Amino acid sequence: MHLKTLTLKGFKSFASATTLRLQPGITCVVGPNGSGKSNVVDALTWVMGEHSAKSLRGGKMEDVIFAGTTGPEGRSALGRAEVSLTIDNTDGALPIEFAEVTITRTMFRTGGSEYAINGQNCRLLDVQELLSDSGIGREMHVIVGQGQIDAVLHASPEERRAFIEEAAGVLKHRRRKEKALRK
Ligand code: ATP
Ligand code: MG
Repeated sequence: MHLKTLTLKGFKSFASATTLRLQPGITCVVGPNGSGKSNVVDALTWVMGEHSAKSLRGGKMEDVIFAGTTGPEGRSALGRAEVSLTIDNTDGALPIEFAEVTITRTMFRTGGSEYAINGQNCRLLDVQELLSDSGIGREMHVIVGQGQIDAVLHASPEERRAFIEEAAGVLKHRRRKEKALRK
């Protein structure tokens, strides 16, 4: 199983439909500052059901919709964002009888998200269930954000311990314990 294509339409800085074709193995996205590299990663988490606007580096969810640009070649804002992710499933890793699976998420400025699997409208839950045993999906994939590697390399031993505890899911219990002891 591998990611095959990612298509962005009206998502963040990608006003026109843009398709990235991915090969098995490592994909490297390069480009100048502000050219949209992180937006591509945001699109990937968004199509898999990300709900936190903060994780998508925005203030509110509708910030993922192309907001328009100024200048002589400026374009007006769009009313919707759409991202499609096509996964190669020839090895049957996803529990669905298709060799190729396309997940689509659409969001309208008026509110609300729609999901589809191979063109059939579905619920977010269906997308989550499809991905849940595959090593990708809401909690199973790992995205190391910009600056995080630097932060780990330059962290003090205490901070490094906090990173590991966060990854292991221990941190929330430690916070709860500290809060309880303060009372
Ligand atoms: P860097 O190398 O600095 O990390 P990058 O390639 O990761 O840059 P991104 O953060 O992906 O860049 O893209 C930032 C650009 O996306 C900014 O120019 C910002 O204005 C634009 N952008 C973000 N959201 C929207 C939106 N909703 N509509 C239009 N443009 C947007
Ligand atoms: Mg970036």
